[in-house]
Amino acid sequence: MNVLIVHAHPEPQSFTAALRDQAVATFRAQGHAVKVSDLYAMGWNPVASADDFATRENPEYLVYALEQRLGVKSGAIAADIQQELDKLLWADLLVLNFPVFWFSAPAMLKGWIDRVLVSGVCYGGKRFYDQGGLAGKKALVTVTLGGREHMFGEGAIHGPLEDMLRPILRGTLAYVGFDVLPPFVAWHVPYISDEARQGFLQQYQQRLEQLADDQPLVFPRLAQFDEALYPLA
Ligand SMILES: Cc1cc2nc3c(=O)[nH]c(=O)nc-3n(C[C@H](O)[C@H](O)[C@H](O)COP(=O)(O)OP(=O)(O)OC[C@H]3O[C@@H](n4cnc5c(N)ncnc54)[C@H](O)[C@@H]3O)c2cc1C
Repeated sequence: MNVLIVHAHPEPQSFTAALRDQAVATFRAQGHAVKVSDLYAMGWNPVASADDFATRENPEYLVYALEQRLGVKSGAIAADIQQELDKLLWADLLVLNFPVFWFSAPAMLKGWIDRVLVSGVCYGGKRFYDQGGLAGKKALVTVTLGGREHMFGEGAIHGPLEDMLRPILRGTLAYVGFDVLPPFVAWHVPYISDEARQGFLQQYQQRLEQLADDQPLVFPRLAQFDEALYPLA
């Protein structure tokens, strides 16, 4: 299996980076090929803009998704986007590895999503959910949190974790066709002991060793909807 780990943390020695290293070691020990995009280390540009296209179909007015679609065919799309897209298409499994910032991903990772999940390749027209351009691939979200486990869930102060991560799990990964595996979460990371953190690293290793047995989360399938995308009775 080919694995792409996209890692976004501003501190190279962070615990989130230790999770990345654990994943690299575990996958390689199982004989998988692994590539890592360490966005801060790469100096990744997270800003989707007109600069992403060497030439434009419409130089007067930027329709970003349209220019993505044309630019990826013509070669006008920026080289850093094309390189990440090539890695993404190579991968059978995508791991997004990040600390939760404001119930979401760091801007660095959001900018990778905005620029690399290119219209016309990853989605477009009615190619989304099970018909998405990345159907057949798996995705795993690995997050660290300041919050404690009991703060998440039905009736808990922050609500269910899957609701917090919905824009990523559903609106991004499931939308472009991934089979989205249940997230791996390291809770309350800055406030626990070193031993407890090392416990998370061990749990993560065990989880990754058995990843093939994981059941993906359930999302809509287009066959459940009519031509206008109203739900079928
Ligand atoms: C802008 C912002 C918004 C945030 N929003 C939220 C939010 O909405 N919800 C929420 O819950 N939290 C939130 N947080 C908190 C954030 O998610 C956590 O602080 C973060 O996930 C902790 O992980 P880390 O990798 O940064 O830990 P670090 O601070 O890097 O590490 C914690 C400790 O682990 C140690 N460590 C490193 N490697 C190892 C190792 N191999 N073994 C054992 N220990 C190790 C480090 O030395 C350090 O002492 C937010 C933080 C910021 C900055």
